[in-house]
Amino acid sequence: MKQYPQLIIAIDGYSSTGKSSFAKLIAEKLGYIHLDSGALYRAVTLHGLRNGTIADGKIDADALVATLPGLEVSQRPDTYIGEENVEGLIRQMEVSSYVSPVSAIAAVRTFVDDNLHKMASGGGVVMDGRDIGTTVFPNADLKIFMQADDLVRAMRRYKETTDPGTTFIDVLNNLRDRDRRDSTREVSPLRKADDAIVLDNTCMTMEDELNWLFTLLEEKYGFEF
Ligand code: C5P
Repeated sequence: MKQYPQLIIAIDGYSSTGKSSFAKLIAEKLGYIHLDSGALYRAVTLHGLRNGTIADGKIDADALVATLPGLEVSQRPDTYIGEENVEGLIRQMEVSSYVSPVSAIAAVRTFVDDNLHKMASGGGVVMDGRDIGTTVFPNADLKIFMQADDLVRAMRRYKETTDPGTTFIDVLNNLRDRDRRDSTREVSPLRKADDAIVLDNTCMTMEDELNWLFTLLEEKYGFEF
């Protein structure tokens, strides 16, 4: 594969704007590593549900944090806990309903950030999340902030849902709730970095998004495709 300049690309934005799908495609096209930070927060949440520190609508933050030194998470590119592939399990509605409050715990954020820094040490990385351009990699070479109409986002997510009994309204409410929590929490809230470029994909296909990015990489970063 052609060798492209090894940038760090940070993609942040609202829930279900297609950040991970876009990041994954970019990584494939450029031969970069893709890191999905939301998947790591989901893995921590699944871990808490399994060990009982998250149960019956409550999160015992201190107890959960105390178990983190024994938690091994990785992306290869699917998300693993130890040697178990948990990519499917972390997408279930139960995990989605707890993940935002779990991600608001400062020690959980430190745990995830440390893992991301370790995995990104070589450059040539595209990473997606809520605070990559503001906190995790404030010096990223390119920062993109993704947004889209929330009904369009909910419909896209609903079409992918495999949970039986989950309605469109459940998905829409979960998405709005996560956006609100993520934007208003004290630690590392979701916000556009001052130097991020906005990509509103309400009316765009993935191909449109890729063309938009490739033009940017050619014009501003000297890429040759
Ligand atoms: O990206 P995804 O929707 O899978 O992320 C799940 C949740 O993880 C988000 O709703 C948010 O609460 C949290 N998150 C975060 N910071 C990130 C990535 C995700 O707080 N960088």
